Amino acid sequence: MSRVAYVNGRYLPHRAASVHIDDRGYQFADGVYEVVAIVGGRFVDEAPHLDRLERSLKELRMTMPMTRRALESVIREVARRNRVRDGIVYLQMSRAVAPRDHPFPRNPKTQIVAWARNNKPPPASHTEDGVKAITMPDIRWGRCDIKSTALLPNVLAKQLAREAGAYEAWLVDENGNVTEGTSSNAWIITPKGELVTRSTDNAILSGITRLTVRELAKEEGLRLVERSFSLAEAKGAREAFVTSASSPVVPVTQIDNQVIGNGKPGSTTLKLRERYLRYMSEASTA
Ligand code: PMP
Repeated sequence: MSRVAYVNGRYLPHRAASVHIDDRGYQFADGVYEVVAIVGGRFVDEAPHLDRLERSLKELRMTMPMTRRALESVIREVARRNRVRDGIVYLQMSRAVAPRDHPFPRNPKTQIVAWARNNKPPPASHTEDGVKAITMPDIRWGRCDIKSTALLPNVLAKQLAREAGAYEAWLVDENGNVTEGTSSNAWIITPKGELVTRSTDNAILSGITRLTVRELAKEEGLRLVERSFSLAEAKGAREAFVTSASSPVVPVTQIDNQVIGNGKPGSTTLKLRERYLRYMSEASTA
């Protein structure tokens, strides 16, 4: 089956889908994006993802190119045309196509692209053995709360992680605290059994999966504390894991050279993962 992408009002064969060389997303990373998981053909946490998209646009003084309803139809149509049952839809908006110049062009017309794909199920090793994270200084800009396409530090850190045989790189701020992963939020469970994740500020993306896991953790009666935690504390944690729309609750069993807990995914992490996977299949919108 040939893949189809949405580009500014048109559904095109994926291989022919392209943007202009004067697209400011291409030239300046002047754009925002969202990734929504699809489970059983339904969208997981669609509304909060689209709310966050609207917020990212607003923070960058960009305008939504269509109504929310129209956007909802676009992502459905892209998923339908690509027959996506279990995967993701990717949505990107850039400020405009305009001759290269740093200031905003007059009357910018937001450009929009969307595509969707099925994902392979995650390898069993994720839950059997967990994954490894390396750590890197967080050299990103001061507005990581905006889901902007400017991801170069994330790309470089993720590449180093892959080269080190790791799944993720955890980024560490100048105070020695973990901010988040390159494409996920970071969590630990302390030796006293507290579930800890950094509170949201400009240094991290407010993950939608993070918000949902937070609610599920409360329902499970876990003691949740939103606060900064240091790399040293993470290395001494009982359990650790990451969350994102495409990697829901993945156990981290090694950070740099330090084995976490007994080196196997922890029971609380696995319980939260089960709970989240159930949530994904039950709470998504058709
Ligand atoms: N932080 C960063 C830097 C990310 O790129 C992502 C994934 N988009 C997340 C956190 C997790 O966000 P979400 O749960 O909304 O996918």
